[in-house]
Amino acid sequence: MSWHVLGAGSLGGLWAARLFRGGEPVRLILRDRTRLAQYRAGGGLRLTEGDTTSLYPLPAETPEAGNPIRRLILACKSYDAEDAIASVAARLEPEAEVLLLQNGLGSQDAVAARVPRARCLRASTTEGAFRETDFHVVAAGAGQIWIGDPLGTQASPPWLETLANLSFPVRWTDDIDARLWRKLAINCAINPLTVLYRCRNGELGQHRAEVAALCNELVVLLEAMDLAPAAQGLQQEVEAVIAATANNRSSMLQDVDRGQRTEVSYLLGHALPIAERLRLAVPRLTDLQQRLQALLAERGLPVD
Ligand code: NAP
Repeated sequence: MSWHVLGAGSLGGLWAARLFRGGEPVRLILRDRTRLAQYRAGGGLRLTEGDTTSLYPLPAETPEAGNPIRRLILACKSYDAEDAIASVAARLEPEAEVLLLQNGLGSQDAVAARVPRARCLRASTTEGAFRETDFHVVAAGAGQIWIGDPLGTQASPPWLETLANLSFPVRWTDDIDARLWRKLAINCAINPLTVLYRCRNGELGQHRAEVAALCNELVVLLEAMDLAPAAQGLQQEVEAVIAATANNRSSMLQDVDRGQRTEVSYLLGHALPIAERLRLAVPRLTDLQQRLQALLAERGLPVD
């Protein structure tokens, strides 16, 4: 049974290369014919791990290709996910499984609504990768991948073991949305501030009180949503992440520096309307979003 990976960017490239070299049948789905021609001209996908760069000649196609899709890994940004799934929806087999790698929350529901017959699983990953150039991915940090079914404790798919055997650091969870919320909260406490202060994560150590105040509001929100386990020890974990990734530039800061759209709508932009619906006062988070949006607008970037 073949895997399809839609999006040959950082994470999609990392996943596809690891599947391919493990002997799994895998095909890339690229945006359009122009991207496909560029990919073919380079001879395949390059993956750098440590000092080693390997070229993997994975087959690739466009969304319009005719072959049916049984197992799809959706590896685009959150804001592209709905259009991307729509472009291949007609190709999904009735029993299709779709694994969503998007960070934050909001896009997963939109995707699932587009393909109601497919089983949409969600992943939350702390692995890191970036694009050196088009179709050349650098593995930038070990981590953990949690996979789960948002509809509850349904059995894990048999291919989870296949991924584990290929050295994917995967674990199954019965509560993937709590994992995604926890990561969303950590991202909300760190990423926007790194953009506003134009700093690496570690420099947020100088803004401890501000980080703590954001964590307090995020804890109130998570607890009000009955996600108390995701709220537990949030501030301590945020401080630990800041220390452990002191030299890193957050993904949001990298997006802004590259002049690219951020995923803010799926982070703060997802949390704030829920706080409003629950009538929770979150002045620090609201102020953070307003300052971030002002900066994005100043740079000519989308504010959502
Ligand atoms: P990325 O490097 O920008 O890659 C996204 C890829 O999706 C690009 O290659 C893009 O193609 C492709 N794409 C977008 N729309 C498409 C469409 N309709 N059809 C085909 N391809 C399409 O992004 P990323 O860093 O891999 O991030 C993907 C998700 O993973 C994000 O939600 C991110 O937050 C999350 N994540 C990433 C990391 C990481 O370390 N990179 C870690 C944790 C979580 P083009 O090249 O043609 O634009």
